[in-house]
Amino acid sequence: MQITQKTLDALWLAGFAIWKALDAYAGVIWLLRRDGRDFDPAFVSTLHGQAAADAAFDRALGHVHDMLAAASAADFDWPADVPAPGQTITDRNQAAARDFAYIAGAYVLLHELGHRRLADCRIEYALREERLCDAYARGILLDGTETYAASQGYPEEMVRAKRLLGILLAKLLIITLTPRDRWTVSPDHEPVRRRLFRVLRYAKEPLPIWFWDTAAAMLAAFARHHGVLNVAIPFRSSRELAFAICRAFS
Ligand SMILES: [Zn+2]
Repeated sequence: MQITQKTLDALWLAGFAIWKALDAYAGVIWLLRRDGRDFDPAFVSTLHGQAAADAAFDRALGHVHDMLAAASAADFDWPADVPAPGQTITDRNQAAARDFAYIAGAYVLLHELGHRRLADCRIEYALREERLCDAYARGILLDGTETYAASQGYPEEMVRAKRLLGILLAKLLIITLTPRDRWTVSPDHEPVRRRLFRVLRYAKEPLPIWFWDTAAAMLAAFARHHGVLNVAIPFRSSRELAFAICRAFS
């Protein structure tokens, strides 16, 4: 992914799209789990307000596409319900969206920096280089969470949860921009399903209670957007559901 003003603004818009994903799926997933029901996309789509919530998420992702397709960031018509980057944010939800956007942006930047650092090593195997750059970016974001949390007086698991979700957002966005015929077979990238799995596998306990609900809702919203949710998924926890939805990305 090339880093330009447009890409950074697109990541910002994607951070705010996450809020629409949670609106559409977090509550539904919570209710289904409580009632011991499958995550059945056909059933979920009939729920009151679901179509509107899905449409709002599609619109929010549409903003991301429009930004990337615009001739320059200045040519993009900024949506009224998303604060502009740099604008002061006081609302808690908007602050969380902003943090996700920053983390996703940092992940993409660090991944690209990884390529620069490896430029002299001449790694012949493109897949291996991608994995190394991912590991480099992930390491910088996740390895120092204890020190950072302690210095800011935040619980460590909160910092780690937010960073993991920011990385998941970056991955979901990259997948969204990847042509569908390259999701499973690509000369230089692993199947998208495996890239999503890898993020979730780094989500080690302890994590705040909302972590897996949020991850599952994000995955569900993107999976529905891409039309890959076709069968009912039995699940006992949001963690189980999140992994099962990853499997659908193929
Ligand atoms: Zn890369």
